[in-house]
Amino acid sequence: MNSHLKQINAQNNDADDDIDKAATRSRKKLIRRPGTKGGKLPWNSLQNAKTWRHVAQSVFVVINIYICVTFYIWVRFYETGGNSLYLERPAGIEGWLPIAGLMNLKYFLETWNIPPIHAASMLLLVAFLAMGLLLKKAFCSWLCPVGTLSEALGALGKKLFGRHFSPPRWLDIPLRSLKYLLLAFFLYLVVPMPVQAIQGFLMSPYGLIADVKMLNFFRNIGQVTLISVIVLTIGSLFVQNLWCRYLCPYGALIGLFSLFSPFKVRRNPDSCIDCGKCAKACPSRIPVDRLIQVRTVECTACMSCVESCPAKDTLVFSAFRPKGQPGATRSAGLSGMAIALILTLILGGTIGYAKLAGHWDTKLPEQFYQRLIPQSQMLGHP
Ligand code: SF4
Ligand code: SF4
Repeated sequence: MNSHLKQINAQNNDADDDIDKAATRSRKKLIRRPGTKGGKLPWNSLQNAKTWRHVAQSVFVVINIYICVTFYIWVRFYETGGNSLYLERPAGIEGWLPIAGLMNLKYFLETWNIPPIHAASMLLLVAFLAMGLLLKKAFCSWLCPVGTLSEALGALGKKLFGRHFSPPRWLDIPLRSLKYLLLAFFLYLVVPMPVQAIQGFLMSPYGLIADVKMLNFFRNIGQVTLISVIVLTIGSLFVQNLWCRYLCPYGALIGLFSLFSPFKVRRNPDSCIDCGKCAKACPSRIPVDRLIQVRTVECTACMSCVESCPAKDTLVFSAFRPKGQPGATRSAGLSGMAIALILTLILGGTIGYAKLAGHWDTKLPEQFYQRLIPQSQMLGHP
């Protein structure tokens, strides 16, 4: 334990030396961010956004595990003809039905009626898009369990191989467009669908138990899907956030909304000592040290850059320019605690509204589930 602490202290001292050298090179007076050592806050500081993010990610993973286990027990109850434990269907499972959410959103935008089936899938989609609209792609790095898994695999890969591997730029750019192609494909399927067709699909036996069909997909995973999952898992050890960066259509959609986010990472070039630590820390490989504002759709508001900056009031995640810049109105950026609070308010507010208004649970008569779930394996697409 003591040797580990000594090692951390030595690393911090080396980092402090590097920061001093960068400040000398830049010929700017460095005012250090209060409370930092080696440019970083201790993990247990309430100001440390990374800690808040890891707490939010862990809580969301636990909630999702709870949802999946409860849903499985609920499905088994009907599959066994009522001879197993019964638990209420967790409506949160609908967060895993993005296509139904998209269809319902289209239905809502055309009819201004909340859809009767799987309304929670639409409301959760809207909540995640609202997060994008306000806080860049914070959903991806603060809440999404797939993002958390991807990040964990990347961290494990770095431990094993001592570094991350990045495809060269000529390959990275076309690979990044894959997620937009996938998004375009889903939008192409859903957007032209007439309202009657959406209703017909969601009211069909398949649509009514789309959540059970999704569970079946994972339970009876096909060879091609299994091989894809294995390749992605192994690939994520080498390439940081492989799925999120190149393939996730959900992230691509939130990214498009994030272009309108008032909150952005903003850099004050007057106090920046050009140490490059922010760009090195960015998992999305954004050259933060060369930008004044990070506008790109790739920013996930993970705050890694902000947390690695040694200079006071230099890198902030804010809706305003940092102090010292022309047109600046405020210097304070959002803290990790504030981001966690806003995300909780958006999600909690959406779920609270849906529950109060009676849109949270898809309520079907018991006989529907008793009849449909046991034969779910046989039900095909309408
Ligand atoms: S720019 Fe900063 S907040 Fe955005 S992804 Fe990179 S490290 Fe995270
Ligand atoms: S903004 Fe980036 S380059 Fe500038 S001082 Fe902070 S970490 Fe260093």
